[in-house]
Amino acid sequence: MPSSEQRKGADYALGIERAGSGTAYGLRFQGEAPVAARLIDGKALAQQVRDGLVAASAAVLSKTGIKPGLATILVGDDPASHVYVKNKQKACELAGIHVDDHKLSAHTTQPELLALIEKKNADPRIHGILVQLPLPKHIDSRVILEAVNPHKDADGFHPYNFGRLVEGHPVFEACTPKGVIKMIESTGVPIEGKRAVVLGRSNIVGKPLALMLLQRNATVTICHSKTRDLPAVCREAELLLVAIGKAKFVTADMVREGAVVIDVGTNKLPDGKLCGDVDFEAVSQKAGWISPVPGGVGPMTIAMLLDNTVESAKRMAGML
Ligand code: NAP
Repeated sequence: MPSSEQRKGADYALGIERAGSGTAYGLRFQGEAPVAARLIDGKALAQQVRDGLVAASAAVLSKTGIKPGLATILVGDDPASHVYVKNKQKACELAGIHVDDHKLSAHTTQPELLALIEKKNADPRIHGILVQLPLPKHIDSRVILEAVNPHKDADGFHPYNFGRLVEGHPVFEACTPKGVIKMIESTGVPIEGKRAVVLGRSNIVGKPLALMLLQRNATVTICHSKTRDLPAVCREAELLLVAIGKAKFVTADMVREGAVVIDVGTNKLPDGKLCGDVDFEAVSQKAGWISPVPGGVGPMTIAMLLDNTVESAKRMAGML
């Protein structure tokens, strides 16, 4: 793993400053040519959020006698899911959040899983419930996600919370889009009045992100696989938010000069390395701000899960 000095060196070579860490590297010139992009450092920003949650969790504990609590439910043996859940649990513990861990066999039946969720719904020590997706094929994810008490829906996937977002009165906001909004805000570029283009219309990223931008008074276009002349639509974007799951799909010719570009994509290259949906090297020469993969949206998604859990605990304790 590169040291922070090595990273600084690599960023400098690309002419990049960082947002979120509070560290700006000063000069934004490579040789004589000005270089556009500043880095939206999701890892540093996530750390700031997590540091802030330590005090918030302690305040909940001192008022109620219990820590904010997150139940994590993992069904089956998918190795990637085990890593994701472990990372989330570790982050919880560091932020003073109690983890109630449930690892269930791949043969768990839907009624058994529903019974566990009912138990967690009724448990006053639990303020958030995370059901790690994907679930085994014999379990209907929609039925499971709808069984979670909407007031403990730390992932923000319940239709009640989705509907509240559509109405403009969100309670729990889905973690990934919430993290993207915080990343945009960290740049200091106002969202209000901006032309925002969201690439991807999934229920967990694209659609809720578009609604969150709309709620903040951006003018929003949602693109998908049937959008005609996608590059031209993307070039209109002052805020370009990309979540399609196609490695390096967004090239520099699709990006408006100075745009804020946030890359949600997580793709594995044949050599095992992770990369985003944006061609980072080329686009960083044109964008005003850009988020990397890894070290961008991923860490913010975890931080927002913790944030939602602590917020829920505060709400239940009458502290909001
Ligand atoms: P998804 O459910 O597969 O949806 C992909 C969306 O992209 C769909 O709306 C699809 O359009 C659109 N799309 C696909 N190919 C396209 C193309 N050539 N041109 C225009 N649009 C296209 O994906 P998701 O769950 O939103 O995830 C998207 C990416 O984000 C994935 O790489 C995923 O791993 C990553 N992700 C990362 C995090 C994180 O925390 N870092 C969290 C969630 C997701 P149609 O609707 O027309 O099919």
